[in-house]
Amino acid sequence: MTQKSLITGGAGFLGSHLARQLLVDGHEVTVMDNLFTGTKANIYDLLDNPRFTFMLHDVTQPFWGQFDAIYNLACPASPIHYQRNPVETIKTSFLGMMNVLELALKTKARVFHTSTSEIYGDPEVHPQPEGYWGNVNTVGTRSCYDEGKRAAETLCADYAREYGVDVRLIRIFNTYGPNMHPQDGRVISNFIMQALGQRDITLYGDGSQTRSFQYVDDLIRAIRLFMGLAPERVRGFFAERKLGVPVINVGNPDEYTIRQLAEETLRQLPESKSRLVLAPLPQDDPRRRKPDITLARELLGWAPKVPLSEGLARTIAYFRTIA
Ligand code: NAD
Ligand code: UDP
Repeated sequence: MTQKSLITGGAGFLGSHLARQLLVDGHEVTVMDNLFTGTKANIYDLLDNPRFTFMLHDVTQPFWGQFDAIYNLACPASPIHYQRNPVETIKTSFLGMMNVLELALKTKARVFHTSTSEIYGDPEVHPQPEGYWGNVNTVGTRSCYDEGKRAAETLCADYAREYGVDVRLIRIFNTYGPNMHPQDGRVISNFIMQALGQRDITLYGDGSQTRSFQYVDDLIRAIRLFMGLAPERVRGFFAERKLGVPVINVGNPDEYTIRQLAEETLRQLPESKSRLVLAPLPQDDPRRRKPDITLARELLGWAPKVPLSEGLARTIAYFRTIA
């Protein structure tokens, strides 16, 4: 039987990749998006597909539909975008999650939620395992996103415990690839666009902070594997480990300083005359970030396959087509 899937935020970077892959897998896919940071350009090629529907809608407003699975991605993900309208950001995380879970409860849909490494804040434990509760400022400029995502996790846990909703969460670590918005403000799109445009490459702080960068295809593979598991397998796995809710980290544990990332970008674009310049470090910018992916390995038999050099080359090729 054809699976009916709803993707909130499906016109964004990750959602457009997920939509494309679910269509290849034979699903009927509905994308709901208010186009705040996403764009129809990401899904133009899907609009004619008879198994694809686009719905212009804000996830904070209730909605109805019968789906087998709901993938909740709606939320701006880049600091410059989620800080542009912080109240909307936290509303989107909380009310959007609530609307998704209410619909799932009424229709018995399985729910996938995109949580984030940001729920660990500026971590004091390195690398970060799922059992770490995090170090998050509740009133900083990143809090609208971090606390919104933390509250969304709490809602998932409570709908699962109280009402038996089948929810699965991935804490996504920095993910990049084609379809990122060129003015998205995230570090990889910024560095590539700056290098291609012969503009200075902006290292915030001194560039010694680290991130672990995952290529989008690796994440999409993990999402499909996770959502494909039988509920008993998921329940058993997390119960055995005394973990209340099915949540796993998914990311590439190869850790780089931001300066190393800038150097690798320039190495791949030798024609660029861009120079590295320092700019102020944003408030509460995490110093280090690297996922512990033991649970994802054990549960899904998953590990990332695409190294940074290769993923960066594919992403540069994409940005060349739109720059
Ligand atoms: P994105 O900004 O490209 O996509 C987000 C999408 O959500 C956009 O299409 C946007 O228009 C839509 N959206 C925003 N507010 C909405 C609302 N109120 N109603 C309906 N649609 C709305 O970002 P992305 O990188 O594709 O991220 C997708 C999800 O994954 C987000 O929830 C994000 O928090 C999460 N995530 C991403 C990363 C990453 O590295 N890319 C890391 C951790 C978590
Ligand atoms: N960053 C940077 N220059 C930029 C954009 C980002 O040095 O032009 C840094 C940013 O301060 C952070 C890291 O790169 O330390 C990753 O930033 P991004 O916004 O991509 O993701 P997040 O901070 O949410 O991990």
